[in-house]
Amino acid sequence: MPKDSESLKKLILEHVTLKDILKDEGKILGEISEEQFSCSFHGADRKKSARYYEETDSSYCWTCKKKWDLFAHIGQREALSFSETLRYLIKKYRIDTSKLPDIQGTHQRQKERKAVKIDERKILVAKIEKALQMVRDDIDFEKYKKFVLAYMYLKYITPEEKFAEEAQKMRTAMLKCFGDAHGR
Ligand SMILES: [Zn+2]
Repeated sequence: MPKDSESLKKLILEHVTLKDILKDEGKILGEISEEQFSCSFHGADRKKSARYYEETDSSYCWTCKKKWDLFAHIGQREALSFSETLRYLIKKYRIDTSKLPDIQGTHQRQKERKAVKIDERKILVAKIEKALQMVRDDIDFEKYKKFVLAYMYLKYITPEEKFAEEAQKMRTAMLKCFGDAHGR
């Protein structure tokens, strides 16, 4: 199951950092917070164009004019895409990702919640439509026209967060009109 890549990155960084990698590659000693080293990527680099920054666990090369974090570094070194890099690191460092929530599940739940909302909206719109048909012959035509416009607006334009409130207002107004027309 796929996991959220931000949580994966965080989890991976608990196991391995760019500092560890550069130490393993023999590029830095990793004993000071900033360290100049020979760039891994642009070929012969006798002048040590790159620098490692512990504070951000990243490196920068003045010749490449490029910055790397752990993932960019591994991605470039192994010629992997971002998601392949995540998989590579998880496998290589035997990182247990089972405790991270599945992204699929989260998306599915969001989708379901949205679907329920849309259904509620549909039902309310249908109710108002029915009420409109009911009152059509009983109320003043100008008023009816106003309600039809309000109904169209509600159906196609009213934003989700205002929908319930606006629908309620319209129903109340229509009922009142209907009551007036019938002398109630
Ligand atoms: Zn470079």
